[in-house]
Amino acid sequence: MTRQTKIVATLGPATTDTDSLQAIVEAGVDLVRMNLSHGTHDEHRQRAEALRTAAKNAGRVVGVLCDLQGPKIRVEQFVDGAVVLEEGAAFFLDPALAGDAGTIEGVGVAYAGLPEDVNAGDILLLADGLIRLKVERIDGTRVHTTVVNGGKLSDRKGINRLGGGLSVRALTDKDRVDIPLAASLEADYVAVSFPRDGADIDEARELLRAAGGHGGIVAKIERHEAVDALGEIMEAADAVMIARGDLAVEIGDAELPGVQKRIMRMARERDCVVITATQMMQSMVDNPMPTRAEVLDVANAVLDGTDAVMLSEETAVGHYPAETVASMARVAVGAEAYADESRPSAGLNRDPHFERVDEAIAKTAITAANSLGVKAIAAMTESGATAMWMSRIGTDIPIYALSEQPRTRTKVTLYRGVHPIAFDPTMREHEAVNREAVAELQSRGAVSGEDYVLITKGDLAGVRGGTNAMKVVKVNEIL
Ligand code: PEP
Repeated sequence: MTRQTKIVATLGPATTDTDSLQAIVEAGVDLVRMNLSHGTHDEHRQRAEALRTAAKNAGRVVGVLCDLQGPKIRVEQFVDGAVVLEEGAAFFLDPALAGDAGTIEGVGVAYAGLPEDVNAGDILLLADGLIRLKVERIDGTRVHTTVVNGGKLSDRKGINRLGGGLSVRALTDKDRVDIPLAASLEADYVAVSFPRDGADIDEARELLRAAGGHGGIVAKIERHEAVDALGEIMEAADAVMIARGDLAVEIGDAELPGVQKRIMRMARERDCVVITATQMMQSMVDNPMPTRAEVLDVANAVLDGTDAVMLSEETAVGHYPAETVASMARVAVGAEAYADESRPSAGLNRDPHFERVDEAIAKTAITAANSLGVKAIAAMTESGATAMWMSRIGTDIPIYALSEQPRTRTKVTLYRGVHPIAFDPTMREHEAVNREAVAELQSRGAVSGEDYVLITKGDLAGVRGGTNAMKVVKVNEIL
């Protein structure tokens, strides 16, 4: 069975050498994530080049996502390495303290606005929520706290406020330098960290376009404010990432499952693509097998309709990167076999409303394909939009995005159930194009004999947004 759910793998030291990179690509990675929080521009350039060679060797299409660091607020450094904070102890955070002067009494903070953003009684969460500090009072630049939950605090650990509200802007000076890098790497997607609203996404898109980049924008949902602004963020972004690491710290882990399901449902209703991220198979950093809970986590995201599942440390620094990708692929396929049982409606939403002709063709094509029982869908697409709309509606039928545009083929690597194929529909008669498309699917073993294939295309092949026709053909009648 062809896997529908896509796998995003973060590159890092564990996947830098050629063999490891080749192994994860062959194990089924659809898109790689370059985490711009780490590494130099040259390293990212080399990675992108190595990835494209590995994909070519494997005969697979693999997209590239550049993840901007964003304004993660962090403590500065300690004089003598990590400190261990004891419950009940006093501890201060002070942006005016020298960057390397932290002690057991307090530490610098890389965000000057912290004293204005917090109030007495606030809970600050450090090191992904391991340490909890209660704000007692603010004296000038110094935020005095009491340790509620202690633990080891080392250099440059992150700070969040329970309930959100640290008002720092999404795009930092570093991000503004990294966006042109993403453009020059021809990234298919650029992920914005800690966006608060749609305006943060619009700004990232403008900067990317100004730098000559063509990629889509992914909004990482990891702030409390972003959960409140999901509608406008999904309107502005091409995709959202449920960035469960920081999100769980801000909203509390008990809220996370419900919010994850809400994001997934809203994304599908709004034609937004969705990636589920962080700790999906975390134990595989050190072990060759996932835990049962991790299997359930991946499977539940698949059953809830995620487009993609993402690996972070598992492939960046883990000991079993290829095994993790293979496990994820296996679990996704296993869950997809039961997708019908959890899918709310296999077909159009109850109240369809189309703004464009190509959208109407794409969405109604799925209803037709589902009820006729066609074997495969061939969407001839310039921009990939038809394939994206098709993939928003529940179907088990594979959607082949036939495009002569290399950028479109790498972009659709993120869409659930969509498989890119290089195909030039221009300069030939319609009938000849249909025949070639069906022959292409047959040569891949996707269709044969009595199977029906549903084809969507435009009268003027090679025009963006031009899809205006649907045709259903039988393989052995057309070939
Ligand atoms: C997350 O917080 O879950 C996340 C994906 O972001 P990052 O890995 O960049 O911290």
